[in-house]
Amino acid sequence: MKVTITSPRSVGKTTISKTKSDDKQDKFIEEIFEQSMKELSDFFGINWTRNRPAIVILKNRQEINDFNREKTEDWEVAFARNNAVYILDRKNFEKESCYKYSDDEYRKLLKHELTHLYYNLFSKGNHYPKWFEEGLAVFISGQSKDKKVKKFTKFLDYFKKGGEHLYSEGGCAVKVLFEKFGKDKLFILIKNISSLKSEVQFNKKFEDIYGSKPSYDFFNSLI
Ligand SMILES: [Zn+2]
Repeated sequence: MKVTITSPRSVGKTTISKTKSDDKQDKFIEEIFEQSMKELSDFFGINWTRNRPAIVILKNRQEINDFNREKTEDWEVAFARNNAVYILDRKNFEKESCYKYSDDEYRKLLKHELTHLYYNLFSKGNHYPKWFEEGLAVFISGQSKDKKVKKFTKFLDYFKKGGEHLYSEGGCAVKVLFEKFGKDKLFILIKNISSLKSEVQFNKKFEDIYGSKPSYDFFNSLI
């Protein structure tokens, strides 16, 4: 499998099959990477300077499939694993996915995946509830910025299962928690995630912090 690795720590040195257009791409990626790392370090209160994440560009759908060892869907364009973000080459973005390309959305996408790596430092591999993890990444990356939910009706079903509503409703759910109750309370929850192994435990901690179990009534009362 051919991958172009543009590790922002040493852009130019680790790029395989480097061409002129890769140079331009490296700069663009490096700029997003540095900006996102700065913003995320501020948000999470972590000064991540050593062993920073690598960015791996996957050229096309075939490379994404090869990497995952399965056929992937056309909406699967980026993921965070171990200490790296894997992302579909922006040059082939529209051809190889169901999305329209824009620099701004690509920037948010990369920041979304980097958010997962920061979150992992706290969650220590506990990815539940999924709506909270994905909602946080959507919110912090700004992907929920222009989206408004009129009524929450679905995201709480997504404790362990995956699906679209994780992103749309989950992002807005975390956003209202942040806006109504502030960052400190949100961080109490984030810092406890690693020890909350079940939905019952999560709901109890959530109630301790926010005064109510996570319910649609509760979230709808906030919008
Ligand atoms: Zn995600």
